[in-house]
Amino acid sequence: MANQFTCTECNFLNCQTRDSEFPRKCLTTAEGNNAVLQQSLDVYDNDRSVNKIMLAAAQVEGQYYGQLTRVEEIIVFAKKIGAKKIGIASCAGLIQENRIFASILRANDLDVFGVLCKVGAQDKCSVGIEDRDKIKPGRYEAMCNPVMQANLCNKEKTDLNVISGLCVGHDSLFMKQSDAPVTYLIVKDRVLAHNPIGALNTGHSYYKRLLDGVKLNEADEKAALSHRQ
Ligand code: SF4
Repeated sequence: MANQFTCTECNFLNCQTRDSEFPRKCLTTAEGNNAVLQQSLDVYDNDRSVNKIMLAAAQVEGQYYGQLTRVEEIIVFAKKIGAKKIGIASCAGLIQENRIFASILRANDLDVFGVLCKVGAQDKCSVGIEDRDKIKPGRYEAMCNPVMQANLCNKEKTDLNVISGLCVGHDSLFMKQSDAPVTYLIVKDRVLAHNPIGALNTGHSYYKRLLDGVKLNEADEKAALSHRQ
């Protein structure tokens, strides 16, 4: 597999500091990328909703750097963009934490619309998921319903939606479907107590095996492939 030089391979990071030099294949100076830069700057300039979020995010960072938890940063950010009603797209497994989060938002004069991932009460098989792909096949297993979560937030006209523990992929669908801007509170990691960076912090030791490639369950992969063909 050809490995393209990108920012993750760069040791200069001169875009951040501008006190050294740009590497030969830098994404800032690469041919054609100046046009992309200009297009991007135009978006910040001309799209008012983007501009508002950009300024608010910078203010949260600049005014409270290293002082606020993410819960607090979300509240400050919400106020800075003028959000009144906050959607919480909650994982069922984190409902206790999200009840506390909802109370905190209310205590800070924000309206809350919380919607659980299992909303709609549909069995996984109702959208074509194979029974064998359930955690426990052979019985009702509620599907996560991120599209409905987003649609309900859209119906409620939430101003800002917060993903709190949605699964990988379900979060992608929620973000794709949401009318309001989306930020994250909790990134789900069932193994690392929702602290995915733990795998990277120990990537030189306990989680070194990840560098050998993630081991897939071959039988399940074959079955999934044959189903698609
Ligand atoms: S933009 Fe250029 S200098 Fe910045 S990290 Fe990427 S390659 Fe390095």
